[in-house]
Amino acid sequence: MQDSILLTGGTGFIGSHTAVALAQAGYSFVILDNLSNSSSKVLDRLARLNASPLAFVNADVRDAQTLDKLFGEYKFSGVIHFAGLKAVGESVAQPLRYFDNNVNGTLQLLQAMQRAAVQKIVFSSSATVYGDPASVPIQESAPLTSTNPYGRSKLLCEDILRELFQADANWQIALLRYFNPVGAHISGLLGEAPNGVPNNLMPYVTQVASGQREFLQIFGNDYDTPDGTGVRDYLHVMDLAQGHVAALRALNAPKLLTVNLGTGQGVSVKQLVDAFARVNGVPIAHRYVARRAGDIAQCFADPTKAQELLNWKAQLGLDRMCADAWRWQSMNPQGFDTPL
Ligand code: NAD
Ligand code: UDP
Repeated sequence: MQDSILLTGGTGFIGSHTAVALAQAGYSFVILDNLSNSSSKVLDRLARLNASPLAFVNADVRDAQTLDKLFGEYKFSGVIHFAGLKAVGESVAQPLRYFDNNVNGTLQLLQAMQRAAVQKIVFSSSATVYGDPASVPIQESAPLTSTNPYGRSKLLCEDILRELFQADANWQIALLRYFNPVGAHISGLLGEAPNGVPNNLMPYVTQVASGQREFLQIFGNDYDTPDGTGVRDYLHVMDLAQGHVAALRALNAPKLLTVNLGTGQGVSVKQLVDAFARVNGVPIAHRYVARRAGDIAQCFADPTKAQELLNWKAQLGLDRMCADAWRWQSMNPQGFDTPL
């Protein structure tokens, strides 16, 4: 049996791009996803990109029987665990659903891994575990906190993985704290396809550009930032995907790695909107409105550890993120339902 990687949540936004990066790096993989926030049509796009999984399993990561069967069928050398719910507002309204899906899901997966003696996992954490940071750029040693059930679910999963490593130092664990992934695969075949009104900035911008939405609301222009709008660390989703390949390579021995994946560059809402309009030649109608509840002024990574520990550094700049996001939107007005 050939070694392969299990990708939970592999038909989602980051998982599908990581599938392409893994295939290019010569890994084979199986995708497990319950399609709660993605489309099976992603698989046709992966096939076009020569990144088909060995198998696609339409199942929930909390389904222990399916996991045991899968770990019996394949000799996985490791797991990349993307499966999770990620909408902050929804998590406030439905905390139990978020804790069950994200925390119980991770527990079920780890227990199945333990039963199968697979001890390598790359976990999707988030910069949200830093809460409202006291200073930027943020180092991994900054205090951890959470301000909503989504963030708390990520922090709890990190705690579980840290305790697991304390108990058994044979594990190989990477906690990857993503900053703000945006953009799409350069082919225009893969991208982000949110359900309903997008919560995140870039998908909202692309929908304004395409005429699906009238204007962008910029949430606050009175922050203590250079132009008053919120500052984030946007990184290209293909760079983030490469970060997972780098993490798998770095997990060549028992260890626990905790690493920020970001560019280290703070970009304001206004800068992103201006870059998008300039690069794509499409103006983005916008209005300044009140701050969004729970938002922080600025958040960007100190990416030094990623370079040192993973030999990873973001390569693609804001212009590429904007160009690729717009290509994806223009080529796929109905998301993955757009005929190929
Ligand atoms: P996504 O929603 O596009 O992908 C997640 C995938 O997991 C979806 O395909 C969904 O169907 C699947 N899924 C959810 N619950 C499942 C379950 N119980 N069993 C099986 N499959 C399940 O989200 P994404 O943006 O690709 O995010 C991937 C991971 O990265 C998530 O854990 C998310 O919390 C984390 N993350 C995302 C961001 C971001 O800005 N996109 C930032 C930081 C961390
Ligand atoms: N934002 C905005 N209008 C929108 C969506 C987001 O002005 O329609 C701003 C938001 O206030 C923040 C930045 O864009 O300053 C990034 O928001 P996003 O939700 O994408 O990421 P997060 O806040 O989770 O880092």
